[in-house]
Amino acid sequence: MSNNNQKTACIIGGGMSGLFTGALLAKNGYKVTVLEKNHIIGGGLQSFRRGDAVFNTGMQTFAGYSPNMICNGFFNYLGINNNLQIMPTNSNVQEIIWMDDKSFVSLPKGREAYQNYLIDLFPNEKVGILMLIDTIFNIGHTYDYLFLRQVQLHPETIKFAYMSADSFIHQYIKDEKLISIFSYIGWTTGHNLSAMPALEFCMMLTLYIQGSYRFIGGSKILVESLNNIIYNAGGQIINNTTITDIEIIENKVISVASQNKKWSADYFIWACSPKILLNITDYPIFRSSMTNRIKEYKNSFSCSIIFCKLKKHTFKFINSAIYIPLFSSKKVFPQSLLLVTDPLEENQQWANTLDIYIPSSIDDFTQWNDTTLGLRGSEYEHYKSQFAENILNYISLYYPSIKENIDFYEVSTPLTIRDYYGNPNGACYGQQGIYIPIKTKISNLFMAGQAIQNQGIAGIATTSIFLTETILGRSLIEEIAVAK
Ligand SMILES: Cc1cc2nc3c(=O)[nH]c(=O)nc-3n(C[C@H](O)[C@H](O)[C@H](O)COP(=O)(O)OP(=O)(O)OC[C@H]3O[C@@H](n4cnc5c(N)ncnc54)[C@H](O)[C@@H]3O)c2cc1C
Repeated sequence: MSNNNQKTACIIGGGMSGLFTGALLAKNGYKVTVLEKNHIIGGGLQSFRRGDAVFNTGMQTFAGYSPNMICNGFFNYLGINNNLQIMPTNSNVQEIIWMDDKSFVSLPKGREAYQNYLIDLFPNEKVGILMLIDTIFNIGHTYDYLFLRQVQLHPETIKFAYMSADSFIHQYIKDEKLISIFSYIGWTTGHNLSAMPALEFCMMLTLYIQGSYRFIGGSKILVESLNNIIYNAGGQIINNTTITDIEIIENKVISVASQNKKWSADYFIWACSPKILLNITDYPIFRSSMTNRIKEYKNSFSCSIIFCKLKKHTFKFINSAIYIPLFSSKKVFPQSLLLVTDPLEENQQWANTLDIYIPSSIDDFTQWNDTTLGLRGSEYEHYKSQFAENILNYISLYYPSIKENIDFYEVSTPLTIRDYYGNPNGACYGQQGIYIPIKTKISNLFMAGQAIQNQGIAGIATTSIFLTETILGRSLIEEIAVAK
């Protein structure tokens, strides 16, 4: 229902951040319009189907869904928790990490189990492990929003923002093999341990140790639920709409425009790469130092993905994230492959699909730089299948029957991420090590999404709640904390 006093918000980008913020504003009485360049919304939250196989494009597992944590409260508040089919990963084996010597560790869920497991493996490091995990949890728990608390000042955490995770861990642990086990978290943050602030490391590990989760039947169900909230509140979602222009007069956005249409609103939320925003206007959106940082900061890593449909009843479903070390002369980051299986619907013993994530650089694909999705030609297809065969041969060293178990596969590359999400250089997690405020210098223009702050469901939910609170001028976190 719309009325003349109803406030309007226009969101540019229909990925997770655009939809989270759109749903929150819609629930709080705003008329929301989401403008999305692709023919479907969702960005990294989309999943696609091939026959009876469903593949996620940017969502294998996520953390922060345990009771009384951000994702759980957030989905309850939006009234969609019951629609979502979410299952925990295996609590005894949340992560399987293969080591260089082909042994592997199986990290369990829960603080006690996690630290006891590590102490059993590295008894000489017992004191250090206990102190390290204690500090991780103390620091991790200061992220108030993640635990559905009103934000407070935590001066004790400041030094961890300026210390690398690597130096932090070395204060407690000497064994390099044990230290390398922690580096798997790089896949969820986009940083290696030396580039990751200790604060972020503590936050991510606190979340993941307390439990990771996955969507059954694809993360698309979350997209559909968010879409319904926006529609039911009288909003609209407009696909196939790339915003190429923004009109700003006297520090206020008047409209945004695609090639053939303009949209006006009271508030505008930029929920895709800030680099795109800087490309379409010279108006000073940010302080000049921030503008320079956005232009100069490095993009996070990119990856290729092999989406495999498995032959029925050939490969066991492994309800864990699997990391296999990657030896590459190119020093790609992260230095591991990530494998995730999804179960057969009718028999969860067996895997239906296997997704293989391979860190990759867009520089290896420069000859197809000027091509677009689906139109890159036969040489590209040939290159991709050779690439996939090499990776599958390598994985056979760890899972010998894997090649025979695959029915068919499809491969995406950093170019896919670049063109599908509009992320410069195909960056999986936007820019690296930069923190862009949600408020801009323009009174009614706000920033959202992984490109400005934290990534993943928990990170983006946090930023979207904070952003919505800023626009509404009141706090929501207490309501979210008690939502059932
Ligand atoms: C390979 C991969 C694996 C991942 N795995 C996980 C995981 O397991 N767990 C987890 O929690 N997170 C994971 N993530 C991160 C998660 O997917 C992202 O943090 C999240 O999807 C980002 O949402 P976003 O809205 O910030 O950006 P996006 O999803 O990139 O959305 C931006 C949207 O804006 C649109 N757009 C771009 N330019 C324009 C324009 N000019 N006009 C209109 N629309 C535009 C894009 O088409 C896109 O739909 C993964 C990411 C990747 C890439």
